[in-house]
Amino acid sequence: MISQSPLLAVADGVHIWSPTPSAGWGLANCGLIVSPDGAAAWIDTPYDRRMAGDFLERSRALLPDGARIERVIVTHANGDHLWGAEVVPDAEIVATREALGHIEYEPSPQQLHALVHGSDPATPLGWYLQRHFGRFDWSGTEVVEPTLTFVGELDLRVGQVPVRLFSLPSAHTAGDLVAYLPQQKVAFTGDVIFACERVLATGAEVIVPGHGPVLDREGVRGHVGYLEHLRDRTRQLHTAGVPALEAARTLIAENTYPALGLPERLVITVGSEYRHLNGTDEAADLVATMADLAQVAWERREGAPASA
Ligand SMILES: [Zn+2]
Repeated sequence: MISQSPLLAVADGVHIWSPTPSAGWGLANCGLIVSPDGAAAWIDTPYDRRMAGDFLERSRALLPDGARIERVIVTHANGDHLWGAEVVPDAEIVATREALGHIEYEPSPQQLHALVHGSDPATPLGWYLQRHFGRFDWSGTEVVEPTLTFVGELDLRVGQVPVRLFSLPSAHTAGDLVAYLPQQKVAFTGDVIFACERVLATGAEVIVPGHGPVLDREGVRGHVGYLEHLRDRTRQLHTAGVPALEAARTLIAENTYPALGLPERLVITVGSEYRHLNGTDEAADLVATMADLAQVAWERREGAPASA
């Protein structure tokens, strides 16, 4: 069961809506900026209408009468950061131009809804999807398209609060951006905490990743160390001729970073590193990848017979 925590203040006029458990699929951190003059903006939105409605209600409680969310800054075009934007239909939606293009490569809310609710729960894939995504309702979700796009960098103001947006070379999805608030020294990184050097170079002291706990500079460095370790081990396994799925199982068993949760997601990480090492550029097949990941989670589920 998800419980929505009340908004958490991370700096003056900067709040985050952070669902728990933070390690769950699709549970993204969302930001609220409130300027002293009452202007307000979001950074990312929750995954579905119900959760976005909760974030909106809690946001409104912090705004002066008559104020509204004027703008939504979208760190990247994955549904778990964008699909809740329909609850603020008058807001300007800001994203990179590449993110706008990326939307069409993502499954639509209806496709995802049908996949989650139409898969056989007796199969590992159906079991996994319903367990982790069954809580979301996208049956009526319309994807709101960005209305203000940019290339490179963009300086905005939310009332009196300056916000610097910079796009990153194709990282997690095409067109990821980092939103940096220089007055408060807070960076919202979306899912590209991998672009750590760039984030640290801004001088940020509070780093809000797309998922999981808020980090300080030391926490970001620790994460970089983990990612480097992961990349090195993946390369070793690749060189040794271990197939990708088996390499993911090996890394999960090594359990070097248990706090991240949902270790089966290493199937995705290892898969993309293998494609990179093999020089294959094409994107992974989403359903096939999820089926592999579900299989790994299924083997590790509570009550599963111990493997030989
Ligand atoms: Zn995400």
